[in-house]
Amino acid sequence: MEMTVLKKKALITGITGFAGSHLAELLLQEQVEVHGIQRWRSKSDNINQIRDKITFHEADLLDAHSLYKVIDEVKPNYIFHLAAQSYVQSSWASPSNTLEVNIIGTVHLFEAVRNSNLEIPIQIACSSEEYGKVLKDELPINENNPLRPLSPYAVSKLAMDYLGYQYYESYGLKVIRTRGFNHTGPRRGDVFSESTFAKQIAEIEKGLHEPIVYVGNLDAVRDYTDVRDMVKAYYIAVKKCEPGEAYNIATGAGWKIKDVLNLLLSLSKVKIKIVPDKDRMRPSDVEVLIGDSSKFRKKTGWKPEIPFEKTMEDLLNYWREKV
Ligand code: NDP
Repeated sequence: MEMTVLKKKALITGITGFAGSHLAELLLQEQVEVHGIQRWRSKSDNINQIRDKITFHEADLLDAHSLYKVIDEVKPNYIFHLAAQSYVQSSWASPSNTLEVNIIGTVHLFEAVRNSNLEIPIQIACSSEEYGKVLKDELPINENNPLRPLSPYAVSKLAMDYLGYQYYESYGLKVIRTRGFNHTGPRRGDVFSESTFAKQIAEIEKGLHEPIVYVGNLDAVRDYTDVRDMVKAYYIAVKKCEPGEAYNIATGAGWKIKDVLNLLLSLSKVKIKIVPDKDRMRPSDVEVLIGDSSKFRKKTGWKPEIPFEKTMEDLLNYWREKV
């Protein structure tokens, strides 16, 4: 007799975003039924190719009612909470909006889950930016490091992270707090340094742009995971991690932004001049973020598989097709 196996259902907030679109692809490959929330004006470029395989629900993090309705309708087995005002730079220009979307929006989501009585894992996309000012002898950073946020964005993510802890302690909500270090790859927003470099190079190659790349702080060091490895980590997290706990997800290797730029330049034949742009500098920047993800690796067996060189090549090729 043939058995029909019921598909698991996942609800992704932020499915139209960079990481959300990659997570949706992964879950579809894993035979998970994918639901996502979107707003009427959400951009659909990232998910155009898989649009027909996803069930969309109109909702906004700032509209509690809309989230109650979605959770009630979908009754998911997992929630991946990726929606956010995700750009550090914008958080300087609009701190209140960043705090509102990332903190109040998360409270709305947690309350909606609580109200539904569903006992499901909820992964929340916290960030290495929460660690902020890190001392040299604290590298690589583990989960017990003090959090010294250096931007409104970092404060918003820290608050979301601790709300996850508090909702677990107070109500038993199964919140899994992943602290992702930088992740990048195809579809990365062009406001982020490596992606704006790649986009500018692709434009220069096509003659759309003078042969100059504008840059911000080139001395910062970041730990880059390929987005496709990152979303695998999110999926493993909901299956294997302990609710209430925080887990760093990182490669453990640091790249200076300057070297990222040089790597991208080495993938192109055009001659390019580099010009500093003060609008791309932040009032206070996190200098070095390198993560220790041994807690997560031990718990799940995850490890990053895609080398950074390949990630950058794919990102550049993405922009070559797009510009
Ligand atoms: P993106 O900016 O690409 O995507 C953000 C998503 O959030 C979009 O789908 C956007 O939808 C949605 N969104 C924003 N505001 C609202 C709202 N009020 N209601 C509903 N949806 C909303 O972010 P990433 O994919 O890069 O990041 C995903 C998550 O991971 C974020 O929480 C980010 O903070 C976190 N993170 C990312 C890191 C990285 O390096 N990428 C590092 C660490 C953490 P719309 O299309 O409607 O605008």
